[in-house]
Amino acid sequence: MRQGTVVQYLADYCWVELDPLEPQHRAPGPPKEVLARFRGRLELVMQQEERHQREQREVERIVTQQVAVGDRVALSEPQPGDFAVEEILRRETWLLRSSVGRYRHKPQCVVANADQLAVVVAPVPGFSLGTVDRCFLAAIQGGLEPILIVNKLDLDPRLPERLEIKTYAEMGYSVFFTSALLDQGLAALGPALADKYTAFCGHSGVGKSSLLRRLTGVDIAVRSVHAATGRGRHGTSSARLYHLPGGGEVVDTPGIREFGLAHLTWLDVHEYFSDIAALTSGCGFRDCSHTVEPDCAVRRAVEEGRLAVKRLESYVKLRAECSS
Ligand code: GDP
Ligand code: ZN
Repeated sequence: MRQGTVVQYLADYCWVELDPLEPQHRAPGPPKEVLARFRGRLELVMQQEERHQREQREVERIVTQQVAVGDRVALSEPQPGDFAVEEILRRETWLLRSSVGRYRHKPQCVVANADQLAVVVAPVPGFSLGTVDRCFLAAIQGGLEPILIVNKLDLDPRLPERLEIKTYAEMGYSVFFTSALLDQGLAALGPALADKYTAFCGHSGVGKSSLLRRLTGVDIAVRSVHAATGRGRHGTSSARLYHLPGGGEVVDTPGIREFGLAHLTWLDVHEYFSDIAALTSGCGFRDCSHTVEPDCAVRRAVEEGRLAVKRLESYVKLRAECSS
């Protein structure tokens, strides 16, 4: 049985990069990619810690039946050149697709085993901190390290001074300022991506493809049709893994609206917004929601310019989504 890594998933089949037969003797050139089909039933159990108030924790079992980009798989080869996925191997990390309606309790994984999630924002089409925080929380839940990339620095060189952006660095996250257009900031970003598997997400128009094109040297929009066979024309809706010239992998994720938080709890939000949590002891009401109550230390911090209003808005919105 051969093993490999799923580099693209296309509903009824996937592209798998085969591990070299002998790890020490990697053949020159790009790793061998094969098309593998699915047969029979695949099943993998992911275990996610669900957190509740009062520190009570439960392990939630998420059963999945589909492969995701980055999955390690075992393949059979019933006929020479005909590969089938037999097993999904253990997932170390995951990013889940939001599921609504009757699929709410069957979250699907979009990216497996990534080390970090790079959330890309830009002044045009505009920052949405709510989205950044959702992505950061989804990353944290799935075991990935979130990083922030603020692109289009050329449009506003004062971006690094913005309070709502400074917060992320203050909270200990890595923040990079780039201009894909003018090739600025990419040298600093390089070492953060080297030898890591990084998923990229961001609203359409922020410059994600431009950044990935610069970083990988591959014209990503064009690559959605597989070079060797011409198969795989699924537009940009299908995530694809690319290698970085200096080592490491990147994957462009499909639309940001696809991202989901499986069972967000109040404790997750509280821990994530630790700057706001630290202020709440100064509020007049013990269960202050920081929206309408008098004598609110959090809103006071906003008025005095110590806390970005966008950050408070994002907090209020995410807190309202909590299940407990
Ligand atoms: P995506 O939808 O996030 O993949 O964004 P694209 O890479 O397609 O870029 C959207 C638009 O923003 C294009 O017109 C790009 O030329 C432009 N763009 C990308 N990066 C930058 C940048 O750093 N500065 C400026 N001014 N424009 C950029
Ligand atoms: Zn308050």
